[in-house]
Formats: sequence, C-alpha cells, structure tokens
Amino acid sequence: MVYNFSPGPAVLPFGVREEIAAAVSCSPGDVSIIESSHRGKAYGAVHAEAMEVCRRLYAVPDNMAILFLQGGATLQFAMVPQNLVRPGRSADYVITGSWAQKALAEARILGVGHRVAGSSEDRRFTGVPTQQELDLDGGAEYAHITTNNTIYGTQAHVFPDLGGVPIAADMSSDLLSRPVPWDRIGIAYGGAQKNAGVAGLTVVFIREELLDRESSSTPTPLRYSTYANSDSLYNTPPVFAVFCFLLVLRWIDRQGGLPAVASANGAKAARVYEAVDQSGGFYRGYADVPSRSLMNVTYNLRNADLELRFVQEAQTAGLLNLAGHRSVGGVRASLYNAMPLEGCEALADFMADFARRNG
Ligand code: PMP
Repeated sequence: MVYNFSPGPAVLPFGVREEIAAAVSCSPGDVSIIESSHRGKAYGAVHAEAMEVCRRLYAVPDNMAILFLQGGATLQFAMVPQNLVRPGRSADYVITGSWAQKALAEARILGVGHRVAGSSEDRRFTGVPTQQELDLDGGAEYAHITTNNTIYGTQAHVFPDLGGVPIAADMSSDLLSRPVPWDRIGIAYGGAQKNAGVAGLTVVFIREELLDRESSSTPTPLRYSTYANSDSLYNTPPVFAVFCFLLVLRWIDRQGGLPAVASANGAKAARVYEAVDQSGGFYRGYADVPSRSLMNVTYNLRNADLELRFVQEAQTAGLLNLAGHRSVGGVRASLYNAMPLEGCEALADFMADFARRNG
C-alpha cells in the first residue's frame, strides 16, 4: 500500500481509479467514452450530470453559471482581468503567494487598472492577511484572492465579506473541499487535478450579471459568454477530464457531500499538524497557525540534508511525493479530498519514528 501526497496532479479515490480503468478498458464491440463525439448522447449525459451534480453538491446558486474550460487556472489569470475590468476601472489583488503574483502579472500585461490590496510577501507568505489588514478599494471591479496557497501551505479560512465588491477566487487547490459562501463571490475557478479528478478541466463559476462586462475586442474563445451561452460546448470540451470529474462528484456524494468531506479534511490535517506540534521542535510548521492549510501541510526540519533524508526514507516506506516546493524546500504533504485518514496516520507515525531516530 502506498499513499500519494503529490501536490497535483494528485491522488484519486481508489474506487474512482478502478471505474476509470473499467470505462476505458478494451472491450471489442464497444466504444469508450473518450472515443465518443462530444455532441453525442453518451457524452451529453456525462456532461449534463456533471453540471447538475456539481451545482447540487456545491450549492451553486441559480444566478451563477458553471463553465467547463481548459487552460488551467493559469489561463484564468488572464481571462479574469480581460473580461471583468472595464476601461477606466480597477481590480484589487491580495498577494499571498507566487500564484497570486502570477495572477496580478496578467492584469499588468493586459494594461487594465489594478491595485495590491494586501500582501504577506514581507513575512515570506507564511500567512493570509485578515479582512481587517486589507486596504480595499470599495469601487473595485473585483478583489482577487487565492483561497489556498499550495506552495506555502496557507489557506483563507474565511472568505472576506467585501460588501458590493465581488471576490474573484483562485480555488485551484481547495476546489470542492468545503462549502463556499457564493453570495460573496463573483467568479471562482480551479483545475480539477487536485481535488476533483484529472488535469485538463478547469471549472469556472461566474455570476451571470458579470457576463455583461466583456468588451467587443475580446477574442471569442477568451470570453466567458462564449461558454455560458453554449453550455460549455462551444468547441470540444475535455471529455475525459469531465468524465473523471463526474466520477469524483459521485464519490463526494457517497461520502455525504461537501460538509462530510470538509469535516474529514479537517480531521486528516489535524492528525499531521499534531505530529508537527508534538515533535518538540523537530518539525517546524511553515505557516502561521491561524492560516494553516487543510490541503497542504508544510514544515521544515533542522537542515536541508535531513529534509532530503526524510523525504527519501518516507518514499521507501510508501509515503510518496513529500518534497516541498523548490522555492521553500522542506516537506509538503498534500491531503486533498481523496487522501484517506489512514494515509495521514501512516505519515504521522512515520514522522514520530523518524524524529526518534534522528532527534
Ligand atoms: N493557482 C494555484 C493556487 C495552484 O496551486 C496552481 C497549480 N498548482 C495554479 C494556480 C496553476 O494551475 P494550472 O496548472 O492548472 O494552470
């Protein structure tokens, strides 16, 4: 038995992997879903059910469109300012890590109005600014936040209440991991490859009233309205990734929906943070305690050599892909939806044993 702590693409529920394998396995006289037209009946049913189950499980209100796109969160960094910042107006950005910096960079390249409304760069992105720490523009087109900072292991546990300013949320690494207060959100997006399936599908949630902001100079494939008006079938959608997304949604449903998944995620992360906190300083958490992520647990050991040994020995013990991001080093354990509690317990036990042998 191995446990895959990869930051993404990441672990799938084991049963989902089996279902995917069965769905594409070679059966003469049969046509698999990934060989079928996106305009055909078989894929049409998958597409419609994925939309429907996503809306129901995530409690997405009727005034928001759900879009199935490609291009990753990275393309959203550009599409959000391109579509949502009108001439003479400006957008706020909260900088909580390098993904947020990349999002801001696209607004700069497009030459649209932008402001930094808060940043934790001066504390090495060890935390997420609280709402009180933000310097917000009440007239902003949106305020962009990163709800979970995959590299640093920090998470916004509260979606700020910005009154009339809609939040634009990069939810790449905590998509479908907890309920979301949609009334505060104008647009949210994330790739499926961490919590909700495989790479290739980017899920976007957008308040319908924001679809009117686009300019006539925006190319057709870069407009949200193109996909909203065609049920995300303007061109070929990523059929395999949508199929896998549906299987993961059904799995979430079987777990008891998002409240159950969120509560399991809390228990899983608590187990690993406990191992950090009870190590007498052998492991030092990277994130400030109030900003600790339930998705990516990051910590350091006393030097880089020992960190390397930790990661290598863990790998041999079946605890895979624990190396921290190259920009922060140390250890990063990604505990997305599909990581079972047993994986977190195995990691916590390994951590205690490693500390005993190397303390
Ligand atoms: N934002 C965050 C918070 C991420 O973790 C990632 C990917 N690790 C991205 C954006 C980029 O996503 P993609 O590779 O799907 O474009």
